Formats: sequence, structure tokens, C-alpha cells
Amino acid sequence: MNHPPVKRIALFGSTGSIGTQALEVIERHPELFSVEVLTANANDELLVQQALRHQPHIVVIGDDSKYTKVREALASSDIKVFAGEQALVEVAAMDVYDLMLAAIVGYAGLKPTLEAIRNGKAIALANKETLVVAGDIVMQTALERRVPVIPVDSEHSAIFQCLVGEARNPIEKVILTASCGPFLGRKPNYLVNVKREHALQHPNWNMGAKISVDSATLMNKGLEMIEARWLFNLRPDQIQVVIHPQSIVHSMVQFEDGSIKAQMGLPDMKLPIQYAMAFPNRLANDWPRCDFRKFNTLTFDEPDYRTFRNLTLAIEALKKGGNLPCVLNAANEIAVWAFLRNRLGFLEMTDVIESVMQRVAYIEQPSLEEYFDSDGEARSYAADLIKI
Ligand code: NAD
Ligand code: MG
Repeated sequence: MNHPPVKRIALFGSTGSIGTQALEVIERHPELFSVEVLTANANDELLVQQALRHQPHIVVIGDDSKYTKVREALASSDIKVFAGEQALVEVAAMDVYDLMLAAIVGYAGLKPTLEAIRNGKAIALANKETLVVAGDIVMQTALERRVPVIPVDSEHSAIFQCLVGEARNPIEKVILTASCGPFLGRKPNYLVNVKREHALQHPNWNMGAKISVDSATLMNKGLEMIEARWLFNLRPDQIQVVIHPQSIVHSMVQFEDGSIKAQMGLPDMKLPIQYAMAFPNRLANDWPRCDFRKFNTLTFDEPDYRTFRNLTLAIEALKKGGNLPCVLNAANEIAVWAFLRNRLGFLEMTDVIESVMQRVAYIEQPSLEEYFDSDGEARSYAADLIKI
């Protein structure tokens, strides 16, 4: 029997929640995947440990000040070491890998991911902010370069899986499920006092700090609506959100005959990560299975838009389009950063984002440069407001 060639993986953001789980998946299938690039921002120790174990071609440490430390730790190996933001983009363009797992968090993921697409690399996309900021340009470039962008985000992976075999059938709408994080049912009088530690305790998923806060504010679902718009070429009114606290139905697609397909399973990011890397194949594993006798009540409710106003702001950005999603994202990144350092209250995050959205000039069809400028402008307004 002929084996398919080994897929060479570049893992951008290897030290994060998605990155480390991706390495677990890769380790189980050495006949299918090899690790060629590993990148991290500041966690040099874990990066070095991962590099020694997986022997990639190249590692990149985003934080330049850690370059010497990483190089010395890997001096006895053949692994090339680069550092800095620009190196991430340069390595993304190199011909040493087949598929990029884009698992950097935030706006920082945009440039390397876009560079990979420009160079014809397949993308397994965890970094939703890339599509929130510049989804039109990113997807247009992917179309021109015939590059597949396969979602890793569990909701979008669910939709993607529901669409297999349905290429000729238009989507009527998609239904994104939201667990609503740790503050389901809470009202502003409770949320006003919430601190970092509460927000980081998600009931069903164990994730990086930024996305955990975004899940608690429901901004994550708003970002995912924008992500879905670009991935599946939808109009804003074709994207619905329902609160589903059990996180068993990962999302659904409704077709023009009224039929609805759902993708289900226990909440475990390794599944969508593995699906994106192995697509179109499904790989056997022995992870725990969903037993419906234990999950015999699945519930679906309307989100509380008045309490979780970040979701309302994101929907406004989705509908108006242009540079507004980019501005929303930038303001949110600064607000979350400040919240995580106890310098901004939970509800104040929304106020900052709203003010920044009103202040940055609207551009209907921004160029890439204009997206970069809008991001910078939104960040500096947000920082002014928070006084950082
Ligand atoms: P994380 O914070 O755990 O990890 C982020 C990774 O990006 C780390 O390797 C870090 O070193 C790197 N990084 C951070 N800032 C950087 C910068 N400025 N330059 C270069 N590298 C930088 O985040 P995560 O939870 O793994 O999430 C990664 C992405 O995947 C996010 O966009 C998130 O929305 C998305 N996602 C995550 C999950 C999840 O379960 N964690 C689920 C769905 C989608
Ligand atoms: Mg998600």
C-alpha cells in the first residue's frame, strides 16, 4: 500500500493552548505529519523543549531579547533560530513546509498567515482575528492562490464538516452555538465586580487567556460571526447565535429545504485541530466519546444582548463592515489586555470598544495598509482612554 507523503507542518504559536494540543495530535501520527517550524512569542523555555523533542528545521522566538538564550539552548542541534516580528513573516514564506497551523493569538497572526497564503501554503486556521481584521483580503488572496483555509475554531470546523458533500447546495443560514462561558445568566450588577480569575474559569474549555475573556464577554461569539461571514461567504443575516451551555452541538447549518445538519461531540479542541490537519480524512483515536445518555438535555436559548453588549457591538461591526471589525478587534485586544492586568473593569471593556468604534474614521473598502492604520489608530485611542 502506498502511504501519502508526510505533511510538513509549520506551527505558528506552538506554545499556546492550540499549539500544544496540535503537537499532541502530531505525535500520534508520525507517519502523516512532521514538524518543520515552531514559533512562540515569549515562552522560550517551552519553545526550546518542543524543538528538542520534535527537531524542526526552524524555530522563531517573537521576543528578540530571548534570541541568544534560545540559540544557545539549541546550539548542539541543526535547528535554525530566528527572532522578531519580521522573522515570523519571512519564515512563513519559506519553502520548508506544506501546511501552516495558524495558532498565534490576536492581530499578530495576520501578517504571517497572509504571507503563507501568498506563498501557496494550505492553512489550518485557529487565529480568528486574521479574518476579523482583513477577512475580505485574506479570503480573496486564498481564492487567487487556490489555497484551502480550513477552520480549527470548533464552531467553524462544525460548519465545515456539515458542508462536506454539499458543494452545490446553498446555505440558508448557519447557527453558531455559544456556551456563554462562566457568566451565563449573570446581570450587570454582578458583572461589574468580576475579576480576571473569574473570567478565566471557563466551564467547558481550557483555553488561552485572551479567548477565555472573550468567551466570558461573548465578544468571542461576535468575532466568530465575522469569521463565519468570510469563511463561508455569508450575509450577516444568515448567521445566528444560540446559547447552548452543554457545548455538545458545535454548530449547525440549515439548508434551503429546511433540513439542519449539526456536528456534535465532547468539547475537545484536539478534534477540530486533527480534522483540519488531516482533511479530508478522519483519523482514528481513543479519546472519550459523547454518550447521549449522560447528556440527555441539550438546551438552546437566545443570547442576552443587553447584558453582553460586546456581542451587540460585534454584530454592528459585522453589518457595517469596512474597517469597523478591524477597529472593534484592536480596541478589544487593548481592553482585554488591561482587564487581565486589573486596570479595567469587566463592563468597562465594552465602553472602551464602543468609544473607539465611534472615533476611528469609517472606511468602506480599506486596503491592507488602511487596515494596518485603522488597527494602530484604534489601539492608541483605546490606550488613551484607559490611560496606559
Ligand atoms: P494562547 O495565548 O494559549 O497561545 C498563543 C500563542 O501565540 C502562543 O504560542 C504565543 O507565544 C503566541 N503569541 C502570542 N502573541 C504573539 C505575538 N505578538 N507574536 C507572535 N506570537 C505570539 O492562545 P490560544 O488559546 O492557543 O489561541 C490561539 C488562537 O486560536 C486565538 O486566535 C484563538 O482565538 C484561537 N482559538 C483558540 C481556541 C482554544 O481552545 N484555545 C479555540 C478556538 C480558537
Ligand atoms: Mg470557537
